[in-house]
Amino acid sequence: MTKVNTVRLILGDQLNAQHSWFEKVDPGVCYLIAELHQEQHYVRHHVQKTCAFLHAMEQFASQLANAGHQVVYRTLDDTEGQSLEQLLGELIQETRAQRFEFQHPDEQRLATQLSSLAQTLSIETRAYDSEHFIVAKDEIGIYFTPDKHNRMETFYRKMRKRLQVLMDDQQPSGGKWNFDSSNRSSFKKDDLTEIPQPLCFANDVSHILARIEKHAIPVFGKAETQLLWPTTRKQSLQQLDYFCENCLPLFGKFQDAMTENSAHSWSLYHSRLSFSLNAKLISPLEVIERSLKAYNRRGSDISIEQIEGFVRQIIGWREYVRGVYWVNQPHYSRKNFFNAKRKLPAWYWTGDTKMSCLRAAVTQSLEYSYAHHIQRLMVTGNFALLAGIDPEQVEEWYLGIYIDAIEWVEQPNTRSMTLFADGGWVATKPYAASGNYINKMSDHCKACVYSPKKKTESDACPLNSLYWNFLDRNRSKLQSNPRMAFPYKTLQRMSEDQVNAINNKARELLSVVDSL
Ligand code: FAD
Ligand code: SF4
Repeated sequence: MTKVNTVRLILGDQLNAQHSWFEKVDPGVCYLIAELHQEQHYVRHHVQKTCAFLHAMEQFASQLANAGHQVVYRTLDDTEGQSLEQLLGELIQETRAQRFEFQHPDEQRLATQLSSLAQTLSIETRAYDSEHFIVAKDEIGIYFTPDKHNRMETFYRKMRKRLQVLMDDQQPSGGKWNFDSSNRSSFKKDDLTEIPQPLCFANDVSHILARIEKHAIPVFGKAETQLLWPTTRKQSLQQLDYFCENCLPLFGKFQDAMTENSAHSWSLYHSRLSFSLNAKLISPLEVIERSLKAYNRRGSDISIEQIEGFVRQIIGWREYVRGVYWVNQPHYSRKNFFNAKRKLPAWYWTGDTKMSCLRAAVTQSLEYSYAHHIQRLMVTGNFALLAGIDPEQVEEWYLGIYIDAIEWVEQPNTRSMTLFADGGWVATKPYAASGNYINKMSDHCKACVYSPKKKTESDACPLNSLYWNFLDRNRSKLQSNPRMAFPYKTLQRMSEDQVNAINNKARELLSVVDSL
């Protein structure tokens, strides 16, 4: 290795080719990209997630090298038995570098590690912004306050104004900030045949699978030698264009819908851009620019309801959850408002449950390392909330199973939005639902052994008694919440015998939760 001035570290989710680091080729800079064993062990990952990150890192490294940058790529073979600290120490010694530079990591675990690593080095160090998010890291404090509810809608409107997106002068395009109420359709029979085929790639990851096996990396889920996920910037942009063309016209309308009766039930009208975005192969701003361009094209079939629904996800929810994550570190992961302690049911790892909705969501997640938002929130998440599953175990599952799972986005979605474990930092009330919601938004109940209309009978939908039991057992924490007035009024109207029967049923179900 030739002598360089500076070693720059690029983490697996910092594959941002548009970062100012790469504007010019500097022979005095050497970039380190490494398949670290620590990243394979902090949680058990879905095998497709591991393949996607490692493949994207390999591709990124060779693109940088092709552009003339000096790159050191270390595979799992090279880094065996080596910590990040050792690896870096050796490279700095070898290159006689005088500076170490890195981009601020997006999760607390790595931020802590890198800042203490930087302190132990005897050479100069500098941390850069990742230049990916709309809100820079040092702006987060302007928009977010720790330990309290930060309203997503308020933040979102500020982003719309700041970026001048979907604005006519100072007013929101279409006269409204939010078209959520038009975006809650479920699929009718005729809609099912119209669902677009997803764009899938065929990235050969057989050599990565071999490395995973050789190093006994603990993974789960369905392995594919031809990975369908985009792992380069080029593929990610193709996927974005495909989405704008084929899915965006009905994205908002069917955003919350679910079905198990289409060949494309797993992808529907969703963009599946979360891996590309979270690995920083593409930026939120270019996603917005291309989708707006499609919306503004003459003769476009994308309505304001659809584009607004999508824009809200990117500049609203995605940036918002990141703000909530950082402003509440490092105590976030200790929040457990309901003191939930139950073990995660075994079928979360296999899909082997009689409940059709949960079977479909878990099986699909194991097959594709993907589920769309409503499956995560209102199916697997809702069950975990109602059953009182320990947030740590729930987080471990979400962090491992999804292709896009990185703590900064997983934690606020799981611990806050889904489990209400923060007592209301994100949601103003728990997203708790009975079987009625699933029955309204999907066709899962038709094929289920349980009935969504029943509460306590032997074939009653488990979600029904669990829902009322959840409300009853958490009265002291939820009853005074004005947004919970309606369900508590309904509970109040039930006779004591009815409530007892429901609670007994829920307890019976929870005692055999692994075999539901
Ligand atoms: P689309 O439905 O096409 O939405 C477009 C984009 O909007 C997504 O790619 C994503 O970047 C963004 N987005 C939408 N909703 C959210 C949200 N609530 N938070 C942040 N970004 C959002 N998303 C992750 O990226 N990583 C995670 O680890 C993750 N864990 C989640 C865990 C739970 C329990 C829940 C309820 C949601 C989680 N989400 C997570 C948010 C959301 O479900 C995914 O971003 C989305 O399903 C990804 O699929 P998509 O790209 O097809 O999204
Ligand atoms: Fe899910 Fe209940 Fe419907 Fe079965 S009946 S699919 S468990 S909501």
